[in-house]
Amino acid sequence: MSDSQIYDTIIIGAGWSGSIAAQRLSEKGYKVLILEARDRIGGRAKTYIDDKENDIKIDLGCSWIHGYKEGNPTGKIAKDLNVNVHLPKPLEGVIYGKNGPLSKEKAASLRASLSSAQEAFKLPHPSPSSTESLASALFSNSSRLFKTDSKPSSNPSNTNIDSTSPANPTENDNISITATGSNDIDKETLEGLARTLEIPLGLKLEKVSLKWSGWETTTSFAGSDAAPENGYQSLIQKVLDSSKDNVQVKLSSNVQDISDSTDGVQVTTESGSKYDAKTVISTIPLGVLKNLSNDFFKPELPSNLKEIIKGTNVGILEKLLLKYDQAWWPNSSTIGSYTLLPLNNKQPNANSTIEEIFSSSTLVVANYASGSLPLTKPLLLTYLSETPAKLLLKGGHSKEDIVKGFHNYLVKRFEPSTKPNEPINGEITNWLTDEYSFGATTTPTVISEDNKRSPMDFKELSRPLWKGKLGFAGEHTEMEHRGSVAGAVISGIREAERVDRLLNLIKA
Ligand SMILES: Cc1cc2nc3c(=O)[nH]c(=O)nc-3n(C[C@H](O)[C@H](O)[C@H](O)COP(=O)(O)OP(=O)(O)OC[C@H]3O[C@@H](n4cnc5c(N)ncnc54)[C@H](O)[C@@H]3O)c2cc1C
Repeated sequence: MSDSQIYDTIIIGAGWSGSIAAQRLSEKGYKVLILEARDRIGGRAKTYIDDKENDIKIDLGCSWIHGYKEGNPTGKIAKDLNVNVHLPKPLEGVIYGKNGPLSKEKAASLRASLSSAQEAFKLPHPSPSSTESLASALFSNSSRLFKTDSKPSSNPSNTNIDSTSPANPTENDNISITATGSNDIDKETLEGLARTLEIPLGLKLEKVSLKWSGWETTTSFAGSDAAPENGYQSLIQKVLDSSKDNVQVKLSSNVQDISDSTDGVQVTTESGSKYDAKTVISTIPLGVLKNLSNDFFKPELPSNLKEIIKGTNVGILEKLLLKYDQAWWPNSSTIGSYTLLPLNNKQPNANSTIEEIFSSSTLVVANYASGSLPLTKPLLLTYLSETPAKLLLKGGHSKEDIVKGFHNYLVKRFEPSTKPNEPINGEITNWLTDEYSFGATTTPTVISEDNKRSPMDFKELSRPLWKGKLGFAGEHTEMEHRGSVAGAVISGIREAERVDRLLNLIKA
């Protein structure tokens, strides 16, 4: 079946990058078709809405506008569409060691050491080899991580609190904590805390290239974070609703190939439908590009691009949500998050039980009962980094067993005086095996034997082909903001502007 129309542009994917590109092109009067493989819009923006309490809306993919006050363009998009955003009230975060919660002073000292070690990577240093990992430097004996008198920030405006927000508990690098110089903090505890970095990074510290560590902190949006009211998915829906009538969205349209032709491009979906256009923008995520057959693009992608797609990495980050009838965990109305350090230093593996996976991992649990955000409910949202996420999702465990197993583990760590009720409900994401993302987001540059990998890979992934008729957008195509909504948005705007220029040239 062939659609008789010729579109100005066909956009593959209705995530952030595709939706913004469509909106911007429609504003200029172009006829746009979005083909989306899923039966919903949003891509990696997906909001959980509780079926009993509709006011419970929690983002299971992206949740924060990072650097809201520092110029993230997503903030302006929300403002232009009259969507409120919430800046969370900062609350204390507690660190649980093997023997229970650490004192405020000890937790502050640990965090100061970690911040100080991270600061060190931003300083100019002799270029390490491409096979050296962030872990090797962070856990070496000379690392600032193990210096206990760290004073990480020279910014006098920073306050002396140890604060986290409920849905974004790992983002506390901008908070200054003056260490107390405690000498009784053991190496294992510090290493356990450093593993929290694996949550936003999306991969193990052993795989992150030391050579490029710290590079992105100078370019990405950071500082204040804000959460869009009603979740990120509804904000994208508003972007699409605000597009002029000349944007058509076809859901459940899994694109199977994109071909160059003399007059433009032709796109074919799994069901055999064919669509013609002058130009096409692919926002297919990197994880999916890695799994496409060689003849998806006709002609095939150039070999250097295929090599980059293979060599760049997609990270793992999953969320585990537990809903209770009432909050039973310690100081539930005042604590923003709980960082649970491992109970042992065993490496969990494919044969580990659910409890073994949790007890050998660093876990960060955000507390929604604290009132930091307007949504105050007995909910705990846990961030799972690469190792526990992979083992839980690939280990054949049912959602029910994971939820129950995690509840039992929390009871063991929090030791409540009375036995709490089990969760009413639970959710665990699975971005890892989702066939339309195959992972959470791109990660920083990984270590490589051939010294070829660098952040420039993400620039290369943005280069248009076929005399400009085939363009690429998506977070993976923005070197300076990859891995974020900002990256997706900026890439969508960039591609819409480029296609506009090209279509004007064709017209002339
Ligand atoms: C758990 C998690 C937490 C995150 N937290 C944050 C955060 O707090 N802040 C932040 O800034 N970023 C965060 N991110 C990253 C952010 O979600 C992404 O960077 C962003 O949503 C990517 O947008 P995109 O348009 O590039 O890709 P996507 O949203 O993945 O859109 C691509 C679209 O293409 C579709 N598609 C794929 N293949 C085909 C095909 N063959 N045919 C048709 N359609 C296809 C997909 O279904 C998808 O809808 C998080 C991500 C995850 C997973």
